[in-house]
Amino acid sequence: MKEGIHPDYQQTTIRCACGEVIETGSVKRDLKVEICSKCHPFFTGKQKLVDTGGRVDRFRKKFGLEEK
Ligand SMILES: [Zn+2]
Repeated sequence: MKEGIHPDYQQTTIRCACGEVIETGSVKRDLKVEICSKCHPFFTGKQKLVDTGGRVDRFRKKFGLEEK
């Protein structure tokens, strides 16, 4: 990859399949995810989505989101 610039850590909008929009910092832009803390059954206790091996956990680590 030769772009001639360093990837800047900038504000990024992450859009989840459920419609949730999360703003965070990343070197990438306009990310899309299939699941987030808003639609994950662990947090909602309602929806019956299957967590295939800690996707939310990796999601958090990837984007540096911390549970509050
Ligand atoms: Zn979601």
